[in-house]
Amino acid sequence: MTISAVLQTSFLGDMILTTPLIARLACDGEVHVVATPANAGVLANHPAVSSVIVYDKRGADAGVGGLRHVAACLRATGATIAYMAQGSWRTAALARLAGMRSVGFDRSAGRWLYSRRVAYRKDWHHAQRLWALASHSRGAESAMVEQLRPSLYPGAEDYARTSALLDEAGVDAGEPLLALAPGSVWATKRWPSYDALAGELVARLPDFRIVVLGAAGDAPLAVAISEAVRHRGGPPVIDATGRLSLLGSAALLSRCAALVTNDSAPLHLASAMNTPTLALFGPTVPAMGFGPLADRRATLGMDALTCRPCSAHGGQACPLGHWRCMRELSARAVGAAVTRMAGPS
Ligand code: SF4
Repeated sequence: MTISAVLQTSFLGDMILTTPLIARLACDGEVHVVATPANAGVLANHPAVSSVIVYDKRGADAGVGGLRHVAACLRATGATIAYMAQGSWRTAALARLAGMRSVGFDRSAGRWLYSRRVAYRKDWHHAQRLWALASHSRGAESAMVEQLRPSLYPGAEDYARTSALLDEAGVDAGEPLLALAPGSVWATKRWPSYDALAGELVARLPDFRIVVLGAAGDAPLAVAISEAVRHRGGPPVIDATGRLSLLGSAALLSRCAALVTNDSAPLHLASAMNTPTLALFGPTVPAMGFGPLADRRATLGMDALTCRPCSAHGGQACPLGHWRCMRELSARAVGAAVTRMAGPS
């Protein structure tokens, strides 16, 4: 039996996309995962994860003392090989300090410390790139979407909270739900017309209740969406922003007919729950490897704009000042696409 470690201290979406690698490694033995405090909870109940070591690299574990502490925790797992899903010099040093061999991408900042380097395939989905880190995953070239689909395991409490939220909103058992996730950490990734879309959907999908997913900071976006629906005479919007854990949001997505989202974490939660997903891309493009992986999926973006993509993550302001990649994506086009996805076939 092999004991492995997976080091992933990037954003939530990256952690979710690392779950296929974790599941693959778990076929051969134990897998221990190093995660940030923000992302650790999303791995709860995951059958492939033997333990989660929280690395608070910008807080309690900042500095060399913190690095040594986490390295000691890693050493205690008995893991002999580290898969560097996050490529900084700091995580590379962590594996070294823990006395482990390491495997990572050939273009990562920490690559000089790795025992083995794997080609970073820009043309692959990121889940596929990460999956290829496992040395025995030589079939990564032809990996199937089912193998690359992330996996999450909401617990009974997560489903109970979701049910309570829907009961409170007066949702009937079979009532169809459509999720909107209007937020993103990056301002240029936030499509600005979710309220117009919601108004449009009152006419297009009159039997559906809209539910807004997101963090507490996305509440004003939910208010704008609720107002737009109310103005069109639609049923009350369910505002779930800030009310559910990450796995609670996943549980809620499993109950939804479809999700409309920016290129942000809810996209990957929906992939894990196989919820039909319409993803809107502005400053980034699906070819960067972060598109949806649900069976029913589609992406929309202003393909004719030559300035796309303009950054790896999407910045806080459009470098050209006009932000056409998102402003010119119409609510009508998005409404038509999601109606095709969620509406009667
Ligand atoms: S430069 Fe182009 S792709 Fe980047 S934010 Fe502006 S409009 Fe969007």
